[in-house]
Amino acid sequence: MDCLFCKIAAGAIPSTQVYHDDTVIAIEDINPQAPTHLLVMPRAHHANIGDLSDASEAALLARLIEVATKLGREHGNNGYRLVMNTGADGGQTVDHLHIHVLAGRHLTWPPG
Ligand code: AMP
Ligand code: ZN
Repeated sequence: MDCLFCKIAAGAIPSTQVYHDDTVIAIEDINPQAPTHLLVMPRAHHANIGDLSDASEAALLARLIEVATKLGREHGNNGYRLVMNTGADGGQTVDHLHIHVLAGRHLTWPPG
C-alpha cells in the first residue's frame, strides 16, 4: 500500500522517533505547529478512527491515547493537546490513523 506512515513505521522513510514498541510509534511532525508536535500512530494501517471497529481495535486506540498522554505529560508544562483530524473536512491529510500531541506553548481555541 502506498501509505506514507506505513513506510515511516517500516523505516523505509526516515523520521525522528521519540517512542516505539511492538504496535505503536511516535515521531516528530515534519511541520511543527508548537514547540512539541508529535504524531502517535499504530504500526498497522488503519485509515482513521472511523476505520476502527472491533474490541482489539478499541484496545489499540486506548493504547495510542495512553502513549499520547504520556508524551503530552512529559513535554507539556501546563497541559497539552491531543488532536485526531478525521477525513478531508476534519483536516486529515495522511490517511493513516494518528494522534497529534501539541505542547510547549499556550494553544488557543477554537482552531481555524
Ligand atoms: P493530518 O493532517 O492530521 O493528517 O496530519 C498529518 C501530519 O503529518 C501533518 O501535521 C504533517 O506535517 C505531517 N507529516 C507529513 N509528512 C511527514 C513526514 N514525512 N514526517 C513527519 N511528519 C509528516
Ligand atoms: Zn498506513
